[in-house]
Amino acid sequence: MGDTDCKPRSIRFAIQTTLRRLKIATPHSTEASKPAGATPGTGLPPDFTFSQSSLQAFEECPRRFWLTYLEQLPWPALEATPVQEHEAWMRMGERFHRLVQRAEIGIDPASIAAGLEPPLSTWFAAYQNDRPNDLPDSYKAVEQVLSLSLPPAGRIAAKYDLIAAEPGGRAVIVDWKTARRRSEPAALRQRWQSILYPYLLVEASAHLPWGTLRPEQVEMCYWFTAAPGQPIRFRYDAAQHAANRQRIQQILQRLLAGQSEADFPKVADTTANRRRFCAYCIYRSRCNRGDVAGTLDLFDDEEEFFAVDPEKALAFHLDDIPELAF
Ligand code: SF4
Repeated sequence: MGDTDCKPRSIRFAIQTTLRRLKIATPHSTEASKPAGATPGTGLPPDFTFSQSSLQAFEECPRRFWLTYLEQLPWPALEATPVQEHEAWMRMGERFHRLVQRAEIGIDPASIAAGLEPPLSTWFAAYQNDRPNDLPDSYKAVEQVLSLSLPPAGRIAAKYDLIAAEPGGRAVIVDWKTARRRSEPAALRQRWQSILYPYLLVEASAHLPWGTLRPEQVEMCYWFTAAPGQPIRFRYDAAQHAANRQRIQQILQRLLAGQSEADFPKVADTTANRRRFCAYCIYRSRCNRGDVAGTLDLFDDEEEFFAVDPEKALAFHLDDIPELAF
């Protein structure tokens, strides 16, 4: 059972924000920030925090980003069983994350497991049996939020389930996934989570207790309740870090160039896109993209499900970050 016997060094400190400036390239300069005083044309609040979810939404369907984060259209009445089923599953996933969080900060797993019922009992047993056993154990950061300021765009932030690190050694980002099936590695690698998380960790590392990290020291580990013995791991390196920086710059440029709804087009109207995106999107009827909701059993990765709750998505404020124990 991994390293639960090894007590992480106990350090208590607050990380409110990790402030680094990421220069945003303009058409006239590859390095300069946007002109002083310029404001994003999108109408996003100046302290808007981009997350992997919002960037993923924009990349997959700019209109969905517009409706969710700018119009902030209210959550419509639930009309499809798959949506309710998905929500119930996601709530269970949130409970699992809280259980694992308690175990990772040192609470006796047996007392956490007492009284649990399926599927939580099964998931937690899988965690106890198959937690990756090669994680560094000098430091553990649980539910850590890291952010990077991006004037004038706002900032990007990520919330990590677990960072396990050792000074001068490896730093492993662990993400606990409770979807009904293991993700496809190739698809997972392309997701914004796999871009933002290692990128932010490297950029923030000088401010963290284990010290500055080179990209080669960082690894991402996705662990699945659906396949606890088959985590997906991605090594990181300097070339990926440079490419990720560029992707972040580019998506923010595209995003900030938008002025109105028309600048945030709907995903192309193809049969494949209707099945993959619109069938699961809460704005389906508004966009006139079909009447029938998709079914979850056709869905490869539930975390791609389009039922974004705008309130939750917008409630990612760093002011809420508590003092964290390591
Ligand atoms: S219904 Fe389709 S086009 Fe409309 S916001 Fe959702 S994914 Fe985009």
